[in-house]
Amino acid sequence: MPARSRRKIEYLRVSVGDRCDLRCIYCRSASPELHPKGEILSFEEIVEVVRVASEFGVRRVRLTGGEPLLRRDIVRLVELLRERCDLQDLSLTTNGTRLARMARELKRAGLDRVNVSLDSLKPERFRALTRGGDLKAVLVGIERAAAVGLTPVKVNTVIMRGVNDDEAPELVRFALERGFILRFIELMPVGEAVRNGLWRRAFVGAGEIRALLSREFLLVPDTGAEGGGPARYFRVEGLPGKVGFITAISRPFCAECNRLRVTATGELRPCLAFDSGIPLREALRRGDRDAVREAFAAAIEGKPPGHRWHEVPTRTGMDELGG
Ligand code: SAM
Repeated sequence: MPARSRRKIEYLRVSVGDRCDLRCIYCRSASPELHPKGEILSFEEIVEVVRVASEFGVRRVRLTGGEPLLRRDIVRLVELLRERCDLQDLSLTTNGTRLARMARELKRAGLDRVNVSLDSLKPERFRALTRGGDLKAVLVGIERAAAVGLTPVKVNTVIMRGVNDDEAPELVRFALERGFILRFIELMPVGEAVRNGLWRRAFVGAGEIRALLSREFLLVPDTGAEGGGPARYFRVEGLPGKVGFITAISRPFCAECNRLRVTATGELRPCLAFDSGIPLREALRRGDRDAVREAFAAAIEGKPPGHRWHEVPTRTGMDELGG
């Protein structure tokens, strides 16, 4: 049986590929380097990783990327995970560009819900921020996800000073009127955001966003858990949805962190904030389940107590880490 660890790990984020059809200015370089296909984990390998993770207590899995809906046959991966792994919650984080056409199939395959990243409701700004994205496609995708029951739909927004900091109230109205959950995620010193200086220039703390929202909305703390994640939630009088804040910088929640990550090339990362990981791919390819188990045990044992982002940013891109 797996070694005991002080940390209770329940949640695994799996990046299914490093390709993305958007190049959000804070996430991805204008000309990203991609790994050769042979270095990316196959579906069988991903299923094997999740099966081993479940021996360690993982019951919730999120597929991410890159853009997970660009991975060929992603619906089949959802089916395989459903058939072969005992999961309470199987979700996916997407930029939403392909969601309209894929939502129904994903739901049918067994996906529970989606998180959609959306940083602006202004078409031109959205296009600039994502370097080419079509806002309309994403909005249709979000509506479609809700219509087929990929719920609760969560919308993830990163507010950046001088980029989209005037849009927080409008995003709240958009999401909460539709019964969605909007989460403001603080910009983190990871990858591209560090390299291009946005992190220093454009960081906006959750406290500032809350203060801004309080001018228009009465925010009432919500005690109900929402997916067991790190966000603190609020209700807004008169609107059905909720708004949450993920305060990785202004109020870190590392002590409660219950997650591990696997990159697209099969590196097990104990923590988003450190560049070190344990490669799983070779062990997976030689069918060595014990070695994969040992890696999980080591990752859980070695999970750092907290980030040190004020001293050392993360070099690996968020597009590789899966957010
Ligand atoms: N392509 C999918 C998407 O757009 O949601 C999944 C991958 S993307 C890397 C996952 C999340 O990471 C997105 O919500 C994005 O906003 C967030 N993200 C990327 N870079 C970030 C940073 N430096 N700080 C905070 N969030 C970041």
